[in-house]
Amino acid sequence: MKIISVVVPVYNEEDNIEHFYRSIAEVFDKLDYDFELNFVDDGSKDHSREILRELEKKDQRVQSIFLAKNSGHQLALTCGLDHADGDAVIMMDGDMQHPPELIPTLIAKWEEGYDVVHTIRKSTEGVSVLKKLTSAYYYKVLNTISTVHIQEGGADFRLMDQKVVKAFRRYREHARFIRGMIGSMGFKQTYIEFVAPKRFAGVSKFSPRKMLHLAVDGVMAFSSLPLRMGLYIGFGCGFLSIILFLHVLVSKFVFNDAVAGWATITACILFFGGVQLTVLGIMGEYISRIYEEVKNRPLYLIGRDRPKDEPETN
Ligand code: UDP
Ligand code: MG
Repeated sequence: MKIISVVVPVYNEEDNIEHFYRSIAEVFDKLDYDFELNFVDDGSKDHSREILRELEKKDQRVQSIFLAKNSGHQLALTCGLDHADGDAVIMMDGDMQHPPELIPTLIAKWEEGYDVVHTIRKSTEGVSVLKKLTSAYYYKVLNTISTVHIQEGGADFRLMDQKVVKAFRRYREHARFIRGMIGSMGFKQTYIEFVAPKRFAGVSKFSPRKMLHLAVDGVMAFSSLPLRMGLYIGFGCGFLSIILFLHVLVSKFVFNDAVAGWATITACILFFGGVQLTVLGIMGEYISRIYEEVKNRPLYLIGRDRPKDEPETN
């Protein structure tokens, strides 16, 4: 029988884990596939760990990896993908916002011959208007400037064939926007739509800061336009300053009407100073990313909790 790995990053989800586990087991009871449930505990500070250990004891199909610290959703997912060896791998959230009832559809698409089956959130119940708007605009901007198409409303809920997972393991950049990375990999990809329900329990673990980080990573990873934009602004301002300089020369030598007023000069200095700082800032963003990558640090560290685990890294 074919095995499906289900990879689930969890961070402080003590009230969700058991319910999630039961729903997954229920779904697979009706299917002709075996499953393994790979939880990645992303440094939880509540009772998630104990609950996961209990589940492991109760059901052999459950395996958990405990990260040494909170490394973020994208790295926790990466760790899960590194350790999932089913014939197909499904990644999903553990808070029931990615409905397990969709799994049979994902598998059916895979059996049709697709290597990657993405899901797209048509809408999310109970999400704020602000989040909806910012998300919609973000994808519009991202797609205008990016080199690959990134689907609006894309969720990190998807099925990947084992061969795609193996290929994905070779991508080792630190600043990762998994949605875009997989989209850019090729293979036969398709998507299905769903409506995301509210969280089963608890609150979102994505702080506005984490969201902003992910958003900036998405732009920086798939576009060098911000860098080029700095260059264009620089060119534009250079051109403007030449015209201004000509204007000053003409005023002085043709009309003998010396330009009075330090205000103009100050304004110019401020303007160009601003432009230079903007460009430097953009360059700084990229340079800090280059620095992160060349350090080549492990993407995540697995805690030493379980005796049978060697301290694995990557
Ligand atoms: N998550 C994680 N590490 C984090 C933040 C979130 O592993 O630093 C997990 C979380 O437990 C959940 C999934 O990632 O299973 C999605 O997070 P959440 O539901 O908070 O995000 P939202 O649905 O609000 O975008
Ligand atoms: Mg959620």
